[in-house]
Amino acid sequence: MTTTTGRPATDTFPSLDPATGEVLATYPVASADDVGAAVDRARITARWWGDLTFTQRKARLGAWKSLMANRLPELADLVSAETGKPFGDAVLECVLAIEHLAWAAGHAERVLGRRRVSPGLLMANQKATVAYRPYGVVGVIGPWNYPLHTPMGSISYALAAGNAVVFKPSEHTPGVGVWLARTLEEVVPEQPLLQTVTGLGATGAALCTAGVDKVAFTGSTATAKKIMAACAETLTPVLLECGGKDPMIVDADADLAKAADAAVWGAMSNAGQTCVGIERVYVHERVYEQFLERVAGLASTLAPGTGPGASYGPATMPAQLEVIRGHVRDALDRGGRAVVGGAASIGDRYVSPVVLTDVPEESSAVQEETFGPTVVVNRVRDMDEAVDLANASRYGLGASVFSRRGGEELARRLRCGMASVNSVISFAGIPSLPFGGVGDSGFGRIHGADGLREFATPQGVAVQRFPSPLAFTTFARSPRTERVTIALVRLVHGRS
Ligand code: NAD
Repeated sequence: MTTTTGRPATDTFPSLDPATGEVLATYPVASADDVGAAVDRARITARWWGDLTFTQRKARLGAWKSLMANRLPELADLVSAETGKPFGDAVLECVLAIEHLAWAAGHAERVLGRRRVSPGLLMANQKATVAYRPYGVVGVIGPWNYPLHTPMGSISYALAAGNAVVFKPSEHTPGVGVWLARTLEEVVPEQPLLQTVTGLGATGAALCTAGVDKVAFTGSTATAKKIMAACAETLTPVLLECGGKDPMIVDADADLAKAADAAVWGAMSNAGQTCVGIERVYVHERVYEQFLERVAGLASTLAPGTGPGASYGPATMPAQLEVIRGHVRDALDRGGRAVVGGAASIGDRYVSPVVLTDVPEESSAVQEETFGPTVVVNRVRDMDEAVDLANASRYGLGASVFSRRGGEELARRLRCGMASVNSVISFAGIPSLPFGGVGDSGFGRIHGADGLREFATPQGVAVQRFPSPLAFTTFARSPRTERVTIALVRLVHGRS
């Protein structure tokens, strides 16, 4: 086994099947030297890639997109094996990643290409243009819960914007990262556009200090703080996509069948390991009982496991099981009620559905990211209280609102980066919508035009077309220039 420098790896780590603990494959731990060598190579690639036209880049990324579409079952199998999620969920993840790659490649020129802007009255003799130029080398650090879709939200947009990428996948899902680099090399053999460096946290830390021009991180808030501190040393800009504690609010006029279905899927799919998964639901007291009954009914039909019949898979990261157990116990100790499951639902690898209610707001199950197939359903007097409680979180990633009449208005009042009205998580599948959080959920955006601009720096250029009659920026300017300028500014801006 060799590292990115071609040297034999001195240290390795296994990728495990989360359902059985069996070793799927072994990967090298990239050292700081290996990461540095990858970034050096990426710097050469970035010059070549950055000098290509948008059309040339689009053609190459289009070839990669086609490869992914044609080998979708192979990729979904790999995602499923490393995460333990059902094949169908892995297919959904692949589809989203392909959609985003297509959008990023197809819209980069329109969003980032040089365009004229108004020079304004005083500078009417100038031609003003702005263009968004690539940073150069972007380091992407990814999580394990959506090992394809999540990092591709950075990788696709960074590549489409003209950057070369060095990717450090999660130590739980290195195979997906290796697959991505290998397949891009198949269709773009000219230069190593995407290099994957495998390893643990130290490899990610090495990437932050290896001279990259930007770091795009997706993972926990705790790690994000370490990354920001490391990058502060060199003023390396960071994009931080962190955890969430997403609320759903359900109004008295909501379609309760649809809301309950969305709440259960939003909370329990992918074993609850979704950054924008539903973790808390605030329901109008008039419909609370009916809603809770529907949620409990649906959640009781779910069963974790492997194979075609499984609703969702095991916890990908065994260490999370203790966190989930702790949150459920804390909620019950503080007077909450379990209407489905309870502390005993948390097994050695699998967690059966847990629906909690009447959980005090100060409980860890309401305050902290649980990342398991559990959900808190609490009743509220009205939608004002629902909005207040939804917003009373240090996180602010996504949200969902169910209401027949006032959904959009409620969504606008929520402190979050994205919201779905009368559906759940749908914003993630719309490539033109930006994705990212506020507060402890991080900052910066992937996806959409904002996601492309995140990986580029704006450059403004003013070209003088003819000398200005108001030559103000010269020591040769006359008192007349000053008088005319004052008169002109009064004329244009003097009245409010
Ligand atoms: P994590 O923070 O433990 O690890 C994320 C990545 O950071 C891994 O690749 C890890 O090796 C690396 N890392 C660890 N220490 C590092 C260091 N000191 N310097 C640099 N890199 C380091 O997170 P995780 O458990 O892999 O992912 C789960 C978290 O990710 C959850 O909180 C989830 O909500 C969040 N997440 C957020 C989004 C989003 O878009 N906002 C998407 C998916 C997951």
